[in-house]
Amino acid sequence: MDPSIAVSFAMLGALLARDHSLWFYFALLALTALGLALCLLPGIIATRRHHPQRLAIWALTLVSGLLGGVLGGWTWLAWLVALVWACLSRDTLDRWAARAAGTPVGTWRICPACAEAIRVSATKCRYCQTDVATPVP
Ligand SMILES: [Zn+2]
Repeated sequence: MDPSIAVSFAMLGALLARDHSLWFYFALLALTALGLALCLLPGIIATRRHHPQRLAIWALTLVSGLLGGVLGGWTWLAWLVALVWACLSRDTLDRWAARAAGTPVGTWRICPACAEAIRVSATKCRYCQTDVATPVP
């Protein structure tokens, strides 16, 4: 997202405050901080959730912010991608990885009958109802 959104929030603060009292400067500071936090939201969420790809999400967040400052316009899409990516759970990512690789990842494995992703501990496939014995270690 364009970091100038922080400036937009600051301008909103300037519009809201009619007199330039201490409250004006407080609102200016608070809204600028809010705008900046919004710009960095995907990275912040990824870090707080200990996302396995948080470094890549931070990179996308910062690059979309920097490019937004230079190019403007459509970089909010990259910001949105980073936000969705940050919100995906490790479990969901593991399920996708298991399906892509065809091998067990995390708590997921592939059903030998229908090739859908099922839990490692499952004894019956939820998709094709095939009895799937837990693999012997
Ligand atoms: Zn199945």
